Amino acid sequence: MAVDYQSLAVRGVQALSPYQPGKPIEELARELGLDPAAIIKLASNENPLGPSEKALAAAREALADLCLYPDGNGFELKQALAKRFGVEMSQITLGNGSNDILEVIARCFADADAEVIFSQYAFAVYPLVTQAIGARGVAVPARDWGHDLDAMAAAVTDRTKLIFVANPNNPTGTVHHGDAMLAFLEKVPERVLVVLDEAYCEYLQGDGYADGVELLSRFPNLIVCRTFSKAWGLAALRVGYSISSPEIADILNRVRQPFNVDSIALAAATAVLADEDYLKRSCDVNAAGMKQLETAFAEMALPYIPSSGNFIAVEVGERAGDVYQGLLQRGVIVRPVGGYGMPRHLRVSIGLPEENARFVEALKQTLESLGQGR
Ligand SMILES: *Cc1c(COP(=O)(O)O)cnc(C)c1O
Repeated sequence: MAVDYQSLAVRGVQALSPYQPGKPIEELARELGLDPAAIIKLASNENPLGPSEKALAAAREALADLCLYPDGNGFELKQALAKRFGVEMSQITLGNGSNDILEVIARCFADADAEVIFSQYAFAVYPLVTQAIGARGVAVPARDWGHDLDAMAAAVTDRTKLIFVANPNNPTGTVHHGDAMLAFLEKVPERVLVVLDEAYCEYLQGDGYADGVELLSRFPNLIVCRTFSKAWGLAALRVGYSISSPEIADILNRVRQPFNVDSIALAAATAVLADEDYLKRSCDVNAAGMKQLETAFAEMALPYIPSSGNFIAVEVGERAGDVYQGLLQRGVIVRPVGGYGMPRHLRVSIGLPEENARFVEALKQTLESLGQGR
């Protein structure tokens, strides 16, 4: 008798569709018969600078010990992070990318009876991990493409266990200032955990933006998640971390895999934290590229959502799918965001100046060939 194995999966998983990553360069090269070197990818918010030399050197050195298990406690990296942020090592949890931590948090604190709150247009991983554990996701309508923090606090019920807040948010790039975050946290009951996902916090320049680590001492229900994938340029290695109370970190540590961050990743991440010059260049290149794209979009009369990340969502109109395809044909990979409920937008990661220029040129050609100013 044939068994329907799909039906054996737990209910949340049966209805799950996997996370859609940006199209890899090699895949487009195969499809179009192009040289991979002729393709630019501005689709996954990766750091266009390439990795830090210090991180590379440390990674190479770590290769000598490939036969050994990594330090399951990540002592050196935790020590470096604790020093940088003025927290205790016991407050830090390391993850195989911060995605790993987001999932571990959901598994530790929510179950099938729980409600998990996130915003419309927020990072796709929140609904995904929520559904995987069979909890009920509550998507609160956005305000001006950003999180409506008042409405999110008002959506808390007796069953609410977790609230995910992305600041800045991906894919919209919207950000909240410290006073708004403070007012929000004051409204959330202490029994509800707030996961403040700060994957892009390093790019925030200027005063007033919410800094989750500064809020931790006042809000024991806060978990701040950060990553080495973006401004620190180590997306391939998969390293992220959370900072929380030691009690919460202790819980997360029970569920995370014992060796979830490998030795190369640990070594490179520890080394890059000492490379302030790299971080500064990441931010400078990003700020300049953001201006470059904003200027181009304004010239082309394309509306965009002002962004505090290393990417920008531009409104290309109802034929966004065709525009995406047209860009692919011209060797430029960006990110469609129809899956986020933004069918008129494309998300573009900020590249090097020449990459941004090539994207703009390809966008102009594509829009022209589609016979639309927009
Ligand atoms: C990129 C991103 C992450 C980090 O992903 P990693 O797993 O650390 O690579 C987390 N949250 C948001 C909102 C992101 O955009």
